Amino acid sequence: MTQPGFSYALNAMLEPLCPRDNTVMRYEASGLPSGTDNRPSYHCGHEGCSVRYDLGNGYFTLIGMPDRINSVEEPGVNTMKCENHGTWMYRRRDLETESGAAWCCGVEGCGYCTQTGTKGSWVRT
Ligand SMILES: [Zn+2]
Ligand SMILES: [Zn+2]
Repeated sequence: MTQPGFSYALNAMLEPLCPRDNTVMRYEASGLPSGTDNRPSYHCGHEGCSVRYDLGNGYFTLIGMPDRINSVEEPGVNTMKCENHGTWMYRRRDLETESGAAWCCGVEGCGYCTQTGTKGSWVRT
């Protein structure tokens, strides 16, 4: 099972927002726990939250035992893909307009971003 995005390098300097609690997620170069593919990902450090982001899965969580972990897509969150790479985009604070949100490509060196404003936002603030 090959998904697009895994051949690209995940930018380590991003500040993706967790879709559940709006926390800035932290980069983990060591990637997922043992027993899974050891790719870098972002991990929400908010208390009790296990949401992750990477290029191939978008926002997802891990379920299962340590020796048999499955990634489960965060429902309703992953809707935007980079037009250049076909990878899932991450959400970040929009630095231009405080009310909106921006979705950006997480591939290193890619500057593809799109504005969403507040329409259809799944974030409750
Ligand atoms: Zn979170
Ligand atoms: Zn891209």
